[in-house]
Amino acid sequence: MSKQSFFCLILFCWFIQTTGYGQDSLPIKGFCIGAPNSKEVSKFIKFINQELAPRGINTLVLRIDFNYQFKSHPELRDSGSLTSEEVKKMVLVCQENKIRIIPQINLFGHQSWGTKVTNLLKVYPQFDETPEVKMPEKYHWPNSDGLYCKSYCPLHPDLHPIIFELIDEICDVFDSDAFHAGMDEVFYIGEEQCSRCSGKDKGELFAGEVNLIRNHLLVKNRQLWIWGDRLLDGETAGFGMWEASMNNTHRSIDLISKDVLICDWHYERADQTPPYFALKGFKVITCPWRMPEIAIQQTNDMYRYRGSATPELKERYQGMMQTIWSDAGSFMEEFYNNKSEESSTSNSQVNCFKSMLKIISDREGLK
Ligand SMILES: [Zn+2]
Repeated sequence: MSKQSFFCLILFCWFIQTTGYGQDSLPIKGFCIGAPNSKEVSKFIKFINQELAPRGINTLVLRIDFNYQFKSHPELRDSGSLTSEEVKKMVLVCQENKIRIIPQINLFGHQSWGTKVTNLLKVYPQFDETPEVKMPEKYHWPNSDGLYCKSYCPLHPDLHPIIFELIDEICDVFDSDAFHAGMDEVFYIGEEQCSRCSGKDKGELFAGEVNLIRNHLLVKNRQLWIWGDRLLDGETAGFGMWEASMNNTHRSIDLISKDVLICDWHYERADQTPPYFALKGFKVITCPWRMPEIAIQQTNDMYRYRGSATPELKERYQGMMQTIWSDAGSFMEEFYNNKSEESSTSNSQVNCFKSMLKIISDREGLK
């Protein structure tokens, strides 16, 4: 081999090594967290700039719920919620870093937490699917009402005008081309006591609500994202009532529009459910939480699915998204207190995040 060819070969190897060219690259490298409160916006912007962007995160799902000063529905605002100026600052830093930012308002389920109903049902109690279930003074699980979280009634005639205004306003201020509606862990659905829902098929009720929101978003070319648990059969698969459905909503998987993106969360096992969603025609991302070992397996699985798929299926395996279930302020504190780039194997959100990133970085040559 001539010196010249040898030099070219070295250069080529260096190029492959540093750019990751030719290796598979996940379309979505996501991070999902509760939006910061007003006081933490500047710190969070720094976090996006200095931590998320350099690590290759290209998608940020921000859970807003009622932490925004909605002009369409000021009665639903949390106190001290984000202003449009604060949101715009976060949007700008994401745009500068080519990060797609997607707001979330949790719809259908999760309309209460612990002993408190949250803003929608507090202000509009008529939307409650189970008004007969009173909030306990002290919450504990399990309880005789089967109360995990309240749900709204998807068939209440006055509900959707309000929800659609919230969705439009939050997507406009975030300048977003997608909206995450949550829709996880809906335990109260199609209840016998509800005159509108009683006797209806729960799969159809769930799919009806998903498709209604999806159709509304589509008018402005926006994509709907939801958590995937209600579409999985918890009994047949043994996944249980949290990561899957035990109340027959799983049949909705065949009734939902295929352009809804599924956020498939599994926190204690690397369940092989992405191929199920992909074969049903959905784009899917896998979401770990706090177990590094599981995140490593899930991330490697995602590359493996893509590596062995037909072109049609490969395109549906969209990537990974770390989910953070503490608020942005406490997560940032945890993150900055844990200086090591190397993740430890002990269970924590930070270690899980770093483990997921390490696999992506090894596979794609990211810094
Ligand atoms: Zn109902």
